[in-house]
Amino acid sequence: MKISEVKSTTREQRITPHTHIKGLGLNEEGKAFQAADGFVGQTSAREACGIIVDMIKSKKMAGRALLLAGAPGTGKTAIALAIAQELGSKVPFCPMVGSEVYSSEVKKTEVLMENFRRAIGLRIKETKEVYEGEVTELSPEEIENPLGGYGKTLSQVIIGLKTVKGTKQLKLDPSIYESIQKERVTVGDVIYIEANTGAVKRVGRSDAYATEFDLEAEEYVPLPKGEVHKKKEVVQDVTLNDLDIANARPQGGQDIMSMMGQLLKPKKTEITDKLRKEINKVVNKYIDQGIAELVPGVLFIDEVHLLDIECFTYLNKALESTLSPIVIFATNRGMCQVRGTEDIVAPHGIPVDLLDRILIIRTLPYTLEDIRSIVQIRAKTEGLTLSEDALNHLAESGVRTSLRYVIQLLTPASILARINGRENITLEDIKEVDDLFYDAKSSAKVLAEYQGLYKFKQ
Ligand code: ATP
Repeated sequence: MKISEVKSTTREQRITPHTHIKGLGLNEEGKAFQAADGFVGQTSAREACGIIVDMIKSKKMAGRALLLAGAPGTGKTAIALAIAQELGSKVPFCPMVGSEVYSSEVKKTEVLMENFRRAIGLRIKETKEVYEGEVTELSPEEIENPLGGYGKTLSQVIIGLKTVKGTKQLKLDPSIYESIQKERVTVGDVIYIEANTGAVKRVGRSDAYATEFDLEAEEYVPLPKGEVHKKKEVVQDVTLNDLDIANARPQGGQDIMSMMGQLLKPKKTEITDKLRKEINKVVNKYIDQGIAELVPGVLFIDEVHLLDIECFTYLNKALESTLSPIVIFATNRGMCQVRGTEDIVAPHGIPVDLLDRILIIRTLPYTLEDIRSIVQIRAKTEGLTLSEDALNHLAESGVRTSLRYVIQLLTPASILARINGRENITLEDIKEVDDLFYDAKSSAKVLAEYQGLYKFKQ
Protein backbone atom coordinates (compact mmCIF):
# COMPACT_ATOMS: atom_id res chain seq x y z
CA MET A 1 0.00 0.00 0.00
CA LYS A 2 1.31 3.41 -0.93
CA ILE A 3 1.11 6.41 1.34
CA SER A 4 -0.49 8.46 -1.41
CA GLU A 5 -3.44 6.06 -1.32
CA VAL A 6 -4.20 7.07 2.22
CA LYS A 7 -5.12 10.61 1.28
CA SER A 8 -8.67 11.86 1.51
CA THR A 9 -10.53 11.46 -1.77
CA THR A 10 -13.17 14.10 -1.10
CA ARG A 11 -10.68 16.86 -1.89
CA GLU A 12 -9.58 15.12 -5.06
CA GLN A 13 -13.16 14.93 -6.29
CA ARG A 14 -13.41 18.65 -5.76
CA ILE A 15 -10.52 19.38 -8.03
CA THR A 16 -11.64 16.98 -10.75
CA PRO A 17 -13.34 19.79 -12.76
CA HIS A 18 -9.92 21.43 -13.05
CA THR A 19 -7.91 18.49 -14.41
CA HIS A 20 -7.21 20.46 -17.59
CA ILE A 21 -5.37 23.14 -15.61
CA LYS A 22 -1.63 22.46 -15.63
CA GLY A 23 -0.20 25.84 -14.64
CA LEU A 24 -0.63 29.58 -15.12
CA GLY A 25 0.39 29.51 -18.79
CA LEU A 26 2.96 32.32 -18.61
CA ASN A 27 6.03 32.91 -20.75
CA GLU A 28 9.53 33.47 -19.33
CA GLU A 29 8.87 37.19 -18.82
CA GLY A 30 5.74 36.36 -16.87
CA LYS A 31 3.34 37.40 -19.64
CA ALA A 32 0.25 35.26 -20.08
CA PHE A 33 -0.36 33.41 -23.32
CA GLN A 34 -4.00 33.82 -24.40
CA ALA A 35 -4.31 30.04 -24.07
CA ALA A 36 -1.71 27.81 -22.41
CA ASP A 37 -1.45 25.13 -19.71
CA GLY A 38 -5.23 24.63 -20.03
CA PHE A 39 -5.88 28.27 -19.16
CA VAL A 40 -7.74 30.64 -21.45
CA GLY A 41 -8.02 34.43 -21.00
CA GLN A 42 -8.10 36.01 -17.49
CA THR A 43 -4.62 37.22 -18.44
CA SER A 44 -4.14 40.06 -15.90
CA ALA A 45 -5.09 37.83 -12.99
CA ARG A 46 -2.76 35.08 -14.23
CA GLU A 47 0.13 37.54 -14.65
CA ALA A 48 -0.47 38.93 -11.16
CA CYS A 49 -0.43 35.37 -9.85
CA GLY A 50 2.90 34.79 -11.61
CA ILE A 51 4.34 37.57 -9.43
CA ILE A 52 2.81 35.93 -6.36
CA VAL A 53 4.52 32.65 -7.30
CA ASP A 54 7.85 34.51 -7.51
CA MET A 55 7.19 36.09 -4.12
CA ILE A 56 6.40 32.70 -2.60
CA LYS A 57 9.53 31.17 -4.10
CA SER A 58 11.69 33.98 -2.76
CA LYS A 59 9.96 33.63 0.64
CA LYS A 60 8.42 37.09 0.53
CA MET A 61 4.83 35.95 1.14
CA ALA A 62 5.34 34.91 4.77
CA GLY A 63 2.52 36.15 6.96
CA ARG A 64 0.55 37.37 3.94
CA ALA A 65 -2.34 35.95 1.96
CA LEU A 66 -3.99 36.38 -1.41
CA LEU A 67 -7.60 37.18 -2.19
CA LEU A 68 -9.21 36.42 -5.54
CA ALA A 69 -12.27 38.58 -5.97
CA GLY A 70 -14.67 37.90 -8.81
CA ALA A 71 -17.99 36.45 -9.91
CA PRO A 72 -18.73 32.71 -9.67
CA GLY A 73 -17.15 30.65 -12.41
CA THR A 74 -14.47 33.19 -13.27
CA GLY A 75 -11.71 30.70 -12.56
CA LYS A 76 -10.77 31.50 -8.96
CA THR A 77 -10.36 27.87 -7.92
CA ALA A 78 -8.55 27.12 -11.17
CA ILE A 79 -6.11 29.98 -10.55
CA ALA A 80 -5.40 28.85 -6.97
CA LEU A 81 -4.73 25.32 -8.22
CA ALA A 82 -2.45 26.66 -10.96
CA ILE A 83 -0.43 28.56 -8.35
CA ALA A 84 0.09 25.30 -6.44
CA GLN A 85 1.16 23.59 -9.67
CA GLU A 86 3.61 26.38 -10.50
CA LEU A 87 5.21 25.87 -7.10
CA GLY A 88 6.02 22.24 -7.86
CA SER A 89 4.47 18.97 -8.88
CA LYS A 90 4.05 17.53 -5.39
CA VAL A 91 2.87 20.74 -3.72
CA PRO A 92 -0.32 20.02 -1.75
CA PHE A 93 -3.49 21.87 -2.75
CA CYS A 94 -6.33 21.88 -0.26
CA PRO A 95 -9.59 23.51 -1.32
CA MET A 96 -12.35 24.28 1.19
CA VAL A 97 -15.45 26.45 1.38
CA GLY A 98 -15.99 28.97 4.18
CA SER A 99 -19.23 27.29 5.25
CA GLU A 100 -17.34 24.06 6.06
CA VAL A 101 -16.30 25.46 9.42
CA TYR A 102 -19.86 25.34 10.72
CA SER A 103 -20.40 21.93 12.17
CA SER A 104 -22.16 20.94 15.35
CA GLU A 105 -19.46 18.38 16.13
CA VAL A 106 -16.18 20.10 15.48
CA LYS A 107 -14.96 23.52 16.55
CA LYS A 108 -14.55 26.09 13.77
CA THR A 109 -10.88 26.65 14.49
CA GLU A 110 -10.35 22.88 14.53
CA VAL A 111 -11.70 22.63 10.98
CA LEU A 112 -9.39 25.44 9.89
CA MET A 113 -6.41 23.86 11.62
CA GLU A 114 -7.11 20.51 9.97
CA ASN A 115 -7.20 22.13 6.54
CA PHE A 116 -4.04 24.10 7.30
CA ARG A 117 -2.26 20.83 7.99
CA ARG A 118 -3.71 19.25 4.86
CA ALA A 119 -1.98 21.99 2.89
CA ILE A 120 1.46 21.43 4.43
CA GLY A 121 3.46 18.70 2.80
CA LEU A 122 6.44 16.82 4.04
CA ARG A 123 8.92 15.15 1.74
CA ILE A 124 10.71 12.35 3.48
CA LYS A 125 13.92 11.12 1.97
CA GLU A 126 15.26 7.75 2.90
CA THR A 127 18.46 6.22 1.60
CA LYS A 128 18.69 2.49 1.68
CA GLU A 129 22.04 0.88 2.36
CA VAL A 130 22.57 -2.50 0.86
CA TYR A 131 25.21 -5.17 1.51
CA GLU A 132 26.18 -7.38 -1.36
CA GLY A 133 27.97 -10.67 -1.24
CA GLU A 134 27.96 -14.39 -1.83
CA VAL A 135 26.22 -16.65 0.65
CA THR A 136 28.67 -19.06 2.26
CA GLU A 137 26.46 -20.24 5.04
CA LEU A 138 22.77 -20.11 5.75
CA SER A 139 21.48 -21.48 8.96
CA PRO A 140 18.27 -20.77 10.76
CA GLU A 141 19.01 -20.97 14.48
CA GLU A 142 16.21 -22.80 16.15
CA ILE A 143 15.61 -22.96 19.86
CA GLU A 144 13.32 -25.26 21.82
CA ASN A 145 9.98 -23.72 22.61
CA PRO A 146 10.66 -22.09 25.96
CA LEU A 147 7.12 -22.92 27.11
CA GLY A 148 7.96 -26.58 26.98
CA GLY A 149 5.93 -27.46 23.89
CA TYR A 150 7.15 -29.66 21.08
CA GLY A 151 7.73 -27.01 18.46
CA LYS A 152 10.89 -25.14 17.88
CA THR A 153 11.13 -21.38 17.56
CA LEU A 154 13.35 -19.59 15.09
CA SER A 155 15.63 -17.29 17.04
CA GLN A 156 17.97 -16.01 14.39
CA VAL A 157 19.06 -16.48 10.82
CA ILE A 158 22.76 -16.61 10.24
CA ILE A 159 24.09 -15.71 6.86
CA GLY A 160 27.72 -16.01 5.97
CA LEU A 161 28.48 -13.32 3.44
CA LYS A 162 31.66 -13.38 1.37
CA THR A 163 32.63 -9.94 0.23
CA VAL A 164 35.88 -8.70 -1.28
CA LYS A 165 36.84 -7.54 2.16
CA GLY A 166 36.48 -11.01 3.60
CA THR A 167 33.73 -13.22 4.93
CA LYS A 168 31.46 -12.00 7.67
CA GLN A 169 28.70 -13.62 9.58
CA LEU A 170 25.47 -11.63 9.76
CA LYS A 171 22.98 -12.55 12.43
CA LEU A 172 19.58 -11.46 11.23
CA ASP A 173 16.16 -11.27 12.76
CA PRO A 174 13.94 -14.37 12.12
CA SER A 175 11.38 -12.09 10.45
CA ILE A 176 13.55 -12.16 7.31
CA TYR A 177 13.24 -15.93 7.02
CA GLU A 178 10.12 -15.58 4.92
CA SER A 179 11.89 -13.45 2.35
CA ILE A 180 14.83 -15.90 2.30
CA GLN A 181 12.41 -18.74 1.58
CA LYS A 182 10.54 -16.73 -1.01
CA GLU A 183 13.74 -15.87 -2.81
CA ARG A 184 14.90 -19.48 -2.42
CA VAL A 185 18.29 -18.31 -1.23
CA THR A 186 20.92 -21.04 -0.92
CA VAL A 187 24.65 -21.23 -0.40
CA GLY A 188 26.42 -19.90 -3.46
CA ASP A 189 23.82 -17.25 -4.25
CA VAL A 190 24.73 -13.63 -4.64
CA ILE A 191 22.39 -11.56 -2.50
CA TYR A 192 21.66 -8.06 -1.37
CA ILE A 193 20.72 -7.40 2.24
CA GLU A 194 19.02 -4.14 2.97
CA ALA A 195 20.81 -2.66 5.97
CA ASN A 196 17.78 -1.08 7.66
CA THR A 197 15.23 -3.83 7.31
CA GLY A 198 17.40 -6.89 6.75
CA ALA A 199 15.30 -7.73 3.67
CA VAL A 200 17.10 -10.17 1.41
CA LYS A 201 17.10 -10.15 -2.36
CA ARG A 202 18.69 -12.87 -4.45
CA VAL A 203 20.43 -11.38 -7.46
CA GLY A 204 22.26 -14.33 -8.97
CA ARG A 205 24.64 -17.23 -8.52
CA SER A 206 28.28 -17.03 -7.67
CA ASP A 207 30.59 -17.95 -10.58
CA ALA A 208 31.96 -20.78 -8.52
CA TYR A 209 28.53 -22.46 -8.42
CA ALA A 210 26.75 -21.75 -11.67
CA THR A 211 26.54 -19.38 -14.58
CA GLU A 212 22.82 -18.75 -14.21
CA PHE A 213 22.03 -15.12 -13.56
CA ASP A 214 18.74 -13.95 -12.26
CA LEU A 215 17.12 -11.37 -14.48
CA GLU A 216 15.08 -9.96 -11.62
CA ALA A 217 18.31 -8.33 -10.57
CA GLU A 218 17.62 -5.62 -13.14
CA GLU A 219 16.07 -3.28 -10.63
CA TYR A 220 19.36 -3.16 -8.77
CA VAL A 221 22.34 -1.29 -10.05
CA PRO A 222 25.05 -3.88 -10.70
CA LEU A 223 27.97 -3.04 -8.48
CA PRO A 224 31.32 -4.63 -7.79
CA LYS A 225 30.77 -7.52 -5.44
CA GLY A 226 31.43 -7.20 -1.78
CA GLU A 227 30.85 -3.51 -1.35
CA VAL A 228 28.61 -1.86 1.14
CA HIS A 229 26.95 0.72 -1.00
CA LYS A 230 24.09 3.15 -0.99
CA LYS A 231 21.02 2.34 -3.01
CA LYS A 232 18.71 4.89 -4.58
CA GLU A 233 16.94 7.49 -2.53
CA VAL A 234 13.33 6.73 -1.68
CA VAL A 235 11.11 9.81 -1.47
CA GLN A 236 7.69 9.83 0.11
CA ASP A 237 5.28 12.74 0.15
CA VAL A 238 2.75 13.10 2.94
CA THR A 239 0.90 15.99 4.55
CA LEU A 240 0.97 16.90 8.23
CA ASN A 241 -2.69 15.94 8.36
CA ASP A 242 -1.88 12.46 7.02
CA LEU A 243 0.56 12.05 9.89
CA ASP A 244 -2.00 13.41 12.40
CA ILE A 245 -4.66 10.95 11.27
CA ALA A 246 -2.29 8.03 11.10
CA ASN A 247 -0.94 8.68 14.56
CA ALA A 248 -4.17 9.49 16.34
CA ARG A 249 -3.89 6.07 17.91
CA PRO A 250 -2.86 5.12 21.40
CA GLN A 251 0.50 3.68 20.35
CA GLY A 252 1.50 6.79 18.30
CA GLY A 253 5.00 6.55 16.87
CA GLN A 254 8.13 7.99 18.35
CA ASP A 255 10.11 8.42 15.18
CA ILE A 256 9.33 9.32 11.62
CA MET A 257 9.49 5.75 10.31
CA SER A 258 7.02 4.36 12.82
CA MET A 259 4.86 7.43 12.17
CA MET A 260 4.95 6.51 8.49
CA GLY A 261 4.14 2.94 9.43
CA GLN A 262 0.95 4.14 11.06
CA LEU A 263 -0.19 5.40 7.67
CA LEU A 264 -0.80 1.83 6.68
CA LYS A 265 -3.45 1.27 9.32
CA PRO A 266 -5.43 4.48 9.59
CA LYS A 267 -8.23 4.62 12.10
CA LYS A 268 -10.41 7.63 12.82
CA THR A 269 -9.72 8.89 16.31
CA GLU A 270 -9.67 12.38 17.72
CA ILE A 271 -6.61 14.40 16.89
CA THR A 272 -5.60 16.33 19.98
CA ASP A 273 -3.47 19.45 20.27
CA LYS A 274 -0.98 17.41 22.22
CA LEU A 275 -0.64 14.92 19.39
CA ARG A 276 -0.12 17.70 16.85
CA LYS A 277 2.59 19.23 19.03
CA GLU A 278 4.29 15.83 19.31
CA ILE A 279 4.16 15.40 15.55
CA ASN A 280 5.52 18.91 14.98
CA LYS A 281 8.37 18.13 17.34
CA VAL A 282 9.34 14.95 15.50
CA VAL A 283 8.87 16.62 12.11
CA ASN A 284 11.05 19.59 13.12
CA LYS A 285 13.73 17.23 14.37
CA TYR A 286 13.77 15.38 11.07
CA ILE A 287 13.82 18.64 9.14
CA ASP A 288 16.86 19.73 11.17
CA GLN A 289 18.57 16.43 10.42
CA GLY A 290 17.87 16.84 6.72
CA ILE A 291 15.76 13.67 6.49
CA ALA A 292 12.53 15.53 5.84
CA GLU A 293 11.80 18.70 3.93
CA LEU A 294 8.80 20.95 4.45
CA VAL A 295 6.69 21.60 1.36
CA PRO A 296 4.23 24.42 2.08
CA GLY A 297 1.22 24.02 -0.19
CA VAL A 298 -1.83 26.09 -0.99
CA LEU A 299 -4.92 26.32 1.21
CA PHE A 300 -7.79 27.71 -0.85
CA ILE A 301 -10.75 29.07 1.08
CA ASP A 302 -13.66 29.82 -1.23
CA GLU A 303 -16.58 32.02 -0.10
CA VAL A 304 -14.37 33.55 2.56
CA HIS A 305 -17.15 35.99 3.55
CA LEU A 306 -18.88 33.01 5.18
CA LEU A 307 -16.18 32.80 7.86
CA ASP A 308 -16.82 34.67 11.10
CA ILE A 309 -14.76 36.96 13.32
CA GLU A 310 -13.51 34.03 15.39
CA CYS A 311 -12.14 32.33 12.29
CA PHE A 312 -10.55 35.53 11.05
CA THR A 313 -8.81 36.04 14.40
CA TYR A 314 -7.51 32.49 14.19
CA LEU A 315 -6.33 32.96 10.60
CA ASN A 316 -4.51 36.17 11.48
CA LYS A 317 -2.47 34.26 14.01
CA ALA A 318 -2.03 31.09 11.96
CA LEU A 319 -0.58 33.04 9.04
CA GLU A 320 2.31 34.07 11.32
CA SER A 321 3.32 30.49 12.03
CA THR A 322 6.41 28.99 10.44
CA LEU A 323 4.28 25.97 9.61
CA SER A 324 1.84 27.94 7.45
CA PRO A 325 0.76 27.13 3.90
CA ILE A 326 0.06 29.81 1.29
CA VAL A 327 -3.49 30.90 1.99
CA ILE A 328 -5.65 32.01 -0.94
CA PHE A 329 -9.11 33.37 -0.24
CA ALA A 330 -11.86 33.85 -2.78
CA THR A 331 -15.12 35.75 -2.71
CA ASN A 332 -17.63 37.38 -4.98
CA ARG A 333 -18.85 39.82 -2.33
CA GLY A 334 -18.20 43.56 -2.06
CA MET A 335 -18.90 45.49 1.14
CA CYS A 336 -20.68 43.27 3.61
CA GLN A 337 -21.05 42.57 7.29
CA VAL A 338 -18.30 40.62 9.01
CA ARG A 339 -20.04 37.52 10.31
CA GLY A 340 -20.20 37.18 14.05
CA THR A 341 -20.09 40.94 14.63
CA GLU A 342 -23.03 43.24 15.35
CA ASP A 343 -22.31 46.00 12.92
CA ILE A 344 -18.86 45.78 11.38
CA VAL A 345 -19.11 46.22 7.63
CA ALA A 346 -15.90 45.64 5.70
CA PRO A 347 -14.78 45.01 2.11
CA HIS A 348 -15.49 41.36 1.18
CA GLY A 349 -16.71 40.76 4.76
CA ILE A 350 -13.07 40.49 5.92
CA PRO A 351 -11.94 42.50 8.98
CA VAL A 352 -9.52 45.28 8.03
CA ASP A 353 -6.64 44.00 10.14
CA LEU A 354 -6.59 40.78 8.12
CA LEU A 355 -7.34 42.63 4.90
CA ASP A 356 -4.19 44.65 5.53
CA ARG A 357 -2.06 41.53 5.02
CA ILE A 358 -3.86 40.50 1.87
CA LEU A 359 -2.99 41.10 -1.78
CA ILE A 360 -6.14 41.29 -3.89
CA ILE A 361 -6.49 40.13 -7.48
CA ARG A 362 -9.70 40.54 -9.50
CA THR A 363 -11.05 37.94 -11.87
CA LEU A 364 -13.20 39.32 -14.70
CA PRO A 365 -16.20 37.85 -16.55
CA TYR A 366 -15.32 35.87 -19.68
CA THR A 367 -15.95 36.84 -23.29
CA LEU A 368 -17.90 34.58 -25.62
CA GLU A 369 -14.65 33.48 -27.30
CA ASP A 370 -13.03 32.61 -23.96
CA ILE A 371 -16.04 30.55 -22.89
CA ARG A 372 -16.04 28.77 -26.23
CA SER A 373 -12.37 27.83 -25.88
CA ILE A 374 -12.74 26.72 -22.25
CA VAL A 375 -15.75 24.51 -23.06
CA GLN A 376 -13.77 23.01 -25.92
CA ILE A 377 -10.82 22.22 -23.61
CA ARG A 378 -13.15 20.71 -21.00
CA ALA A 379 -14.92 18.55 -23.58
CA LYS A 380 -11.56 17.28 -24.84
CA THR A 381 -10.39 16.53 -21.29
CA GLU A 382 -13.57 14.57 -20.62
CA GLY A 383 -13.14 12.69 -23.92
CA LEU A 384 -16.31 14.18 -25.44
CA THR A 385 -16.87 15.35 -29.00
CA LEU A 386 -19.15 18.28 -29.75
CA SER A 387 -20.57 19.54 -33.03
CA GLU A 388 -19.62 23.11 -34.01
CA ASP A 389 -23.17 24.49 -33.50
CA ALA A 390 -23.46 22.73 -30.10
CA LEU A 391 -20.23 24.43 -29.01
CA ASN A 392 -21.44 27.83 -30.25
CA HIS A 393 -24.72 27.41 -28.43
CA LEU A 394 -22.92 26.58 -25.18
CA ALA A 395 -20.65 29.62 -25.56
CA GLU A 396 -23.63 31.96 -26.11
CA SER A 397 -25.50 30.40 -23.23
CA GLY A 398 -22.37 30.77 -21.04
CA VAL A 399 -22.38 34.55 -21.54
CA ARG A 400 -26.00 34.76 -20.34
CA THR A 401 -25.66 32.23 -17.54
CA SER A 402 -22.22 31.21 -16.28
CA LEU A 403 -19.19 29.27 -17.43
CA ARG A 404 -19.72 26.77 -14.62
CA TYR A 405 -23.29 26.10 -15.77
CA VAL A 406 -22.40 25.36 -19.38
CA ILE A 407 -19.47 23.15 -18.39
CA GLN A 408 -21.88 21.22 -16.19
CA LEU A 409 -24.18 20.61 -19.16
CA LEU A 410 -21.50 18.60 -20.96
CA THR A 411 -21.90 15.33 -19.04
CA PRO A 412 -25.75 15.16 -19.16
CA ALA A 413 -25.59 16.05 -22.87
CA SER A 414 -23.14 13.21 -23.48
CA ILE A 415 -25.51 10.81 -21.71
CA LEU A 416 -28.38 11.96 -23.95
CA ALA A 417 -26.23 11.48 -27.04
CA ARG A 418 -25.30 7.97 -25.94
CA ILE A 419 -28.95 7.09 -25.24
CA ASN A 420 -29.64 8.10 -28.82
CA GLY A 421 -26.83 5.87 -30.05
CA ARG A 422 -24.38 8.66 -30.82
CA GLU A 423 -20.87 9.51 -29.59
CA ASN A 424 -21.01 13.07 -30.88
CA ILE A 425 -22.94 15.69 -28.85
CA THR A 426 -25.26 17.66 -31.16
CA LEU A 427 -27.07 20.99 -30.84
CA GLU A 428 -30.30 19.09 -30.06
CA ASP A 429 -28.69 17.33 -27.08
CA ILE A 430 -27.47 20.65 -25.72
CA LYS A 431 -30.85 22.33 -26.21
CA GLU A 432 -32.63 19.47 -24.53
CA VAL A 433 -30.44 19.47 -21.40
CA ASP A 434 -30.53 23.28 -21.34
CA ASP A 435 -34.35 22.99 -21.16
CA LEU A 436 -34.21 20.34 -18.46
CA PHE A 437 -31.86 22.16 -16.10
CA TYR A 438 -31.84 25.66 -14.72
CA ASP A 439 -28.84 27.86 -14.20
CA ALA A 440 -28.71 29.91 -11.00
CA LYS A 441 -29.94 33.12 -12.68
CA SER A 442 -33.00 31.58 -14.35
CA SER A 443 -33.84 29.67 -11.21
CA ALA A 444 -33.81 32.94 -9.25
CA LYS A 445 -36.03 34.52 -11.91
CA VAL A 446 -38.56 31.70 -11.67
CA LEU A 447 -38.56 31.97 -7.89
CA ALA A 448 -39.22 35.71 -8.09
CA GLU A 449 -42.06 35.24 -10.61
CA TYR A 450 -43.83 32.49 -8.70
CA GLN A 451 -42.97 33.54 -5.16
CA GLY A 452 -46.52 33.13 -3.94
CA LEU A 453 -46.53 29.43 -4.79
CA TYR A 454 -43.50 28.58 -2.69
CA LYS A 455 -43.59 27.74 0.97
CA PHE A 456 -40.25 29.38 1.70
CA LYS A 457 -41.13 32.95 0.61
CA GLN A 458 -39.63 35.67 2.81
P1 ATP B 1 -16.91 29.86 -7.71
O1 ATP B 1 -16.72 31.23 -7.22
O2 ATP B 1 -18.32 29.52 -8.07
O3 ATP B 1 -16.25 28.81 -6.86
P2 ATP B 1 -14.69 29.96 -9.48
O4 ATP B 1 -14.43 31.37 -9.80
O5 ATP B 1 -13.81 29.30 -8.48
O6 ATP B 1 -16.18 29.77 -9.14
P3 ATP B 1 -13.88 27.82 -11.20
O7 ATP B 1 -14.50 26.75 -10.40
O8 ATP B 1 -12.42 27.98 -11.11
O9 ATP B 1 -14.59 29.19 -10.86
O10 ATP B 1 -14.28 27.69 -12.75
C1 ATP B 1 -15.34 26.91 -13.24
C2 ATP B 1 -14.86 25.90 -14.26
O11 ATP B 1 -14.27 26.57 -15.38
C3 ATP B 1 -13.76 24.98 -13.75
O12 ATP B 1 -13.89 23.75 -14.41
C4 ATP B 1 -12.49 25.69 -14.18
O13 ATP B 1 -11.40 24.79 -14.27
C5 ATP B 1 -12.88 26.25 -15.54
N1 ATP B 1 -12.20 27.51 -15.82
C6 ATP B 1 -12.47 28.70 -15.25
N2 ATP B 1 -11.71 29.67 -15.77
C7 ATP B 1 -10.93 29.07 -16.71
C8 ATP B 1 -9.96 29.56 -17.62
N3 ATP B 1 -9.62 30.84 -17.67
N4 ATP B 1 -9.38 28.68 -18.46
C9 ATP B 1 -9.73 27.38 -18.43
N5 ATP B 1 -10.64 26.87 -17.60
C10 ATP B 1 -11.26 27.68 -16.75
